[in-house]
Amino acid sequence: MHIADLFGRGQPVLSVEVFPPKPESALDGVLATIEAVQNLEPDFISVTYGAGGSSRAHTVEIANRIKNRYGIETLAHLTCVGTGKDEIDDILAELREKNIDNILALRGDMPQEGVPAKFDYTYAQDLIEYLTARGEFSIGAACYPEGHIECASLEQDLKHLRDKVNAGADFLITQLFFDNDFFYRFRDQINALGIQVPVSAGIMPVMNKRQIERITTLCGASIPPRLRQILTAYEDDPPALKKAGIDYAIEQIEDLLAAGVDGIHLYAMNRPEVARTVFAVVNGLRGSSAHEHRL
Ligand code: FAD
Repeated sequence: MHIADLFGRGQPVLSVEVFPPKPESALDGVLATIEAVQNLEPDFISVTYGAGGSSRAHTVEIANRIKNRYGIETLAHLTCVGTGKDEIDDILAELREKNIDNILALRGDMPQEGVPAKFDYTYAQDLIEYLTARGEFSIGAACYPEGHIECASLEQDLKHLRDKVNAGADFLITQLFFDNDFFYRFRDQINALGIQVPVSAGIMPVMNKRQIERITTLCGASIPPRLRQILTAYEDDPPALKKAGIDYAIEQIEDLLAAGVDGIHLYAMNRPEVARTVFAVVNGLRGSSAHEHRL
């Protein structure tokens, strides 16, 4: 099933992201996360793709299990930076063979050693154009409520986003953010640019101070003062930080659902208990928010 068709059915689309683990023996953690959420009826589960293609086989294999063993719709991430068309064609053939219908088309982070001499795609837009021409997949793309870290201005980034959508992206998923005002402002800005595809809000429950500082430094998302206070207050008390992080994420989601968000995409970091706790609450919330929106 095409994920694009899941949107617009009167209730927000709920999804969760898993990533291929390192080392491979930790595959159990991903499978446990999938099993933890399968009874909670996620609309889809996405699987990340390692930079440089290191986890290509794992991405396809995990997506295959989600779709064909657990019967849940899946979204395979695919990056194109430094990748030739032949390699992309091989991956697309593997995905088709496993009946995987949805791709999150990404450029990927620039390799530190620079882009290899042989590459056929410069931006995600180039990959999206190629996928659109093939016509086999529903295509998602990434977006950045606070702007992409490399871009000189949010305004410029939004114009690139419009080009990406015009190239054929059916839906968008945001980078994580911790202040919903960024999302609401972004939603207004893309509406003003005529971008009309659905946008799922990416939410990450904070579990660990050092981890979240590293992630936000890499991706440029900001940590608002209230979250910073939580991180400082509980940095030496992991169980309390975990509870506070989950509560913060649930508050964000509650507010987003009340504001009529198209979807929630949970960055659960392969933590089954986190996915289960958040999904249990969110499933109740999204039922009532859809009801309120229909009234
Ligand atoms: P693009 O859309 O190509 O944009 C990259 C930069 O180039 C931006 O600054 C943009 O403004 C600029 N740009 C775009 N088009 C043009 C143009 N025509 N001319 C000039 N500048 C332009 N990374 C992984 O490695 N694996 C994953 O599985 C993965 N999953 C992700 C999932 C989500 C939901 C998100 C938000 C990010 C994910 N990433 C993943 C990270 C992503 O690869 C990086 O953020 C990467 O730096 C940008 O990818 P993109 O597809 O957004 O790039």
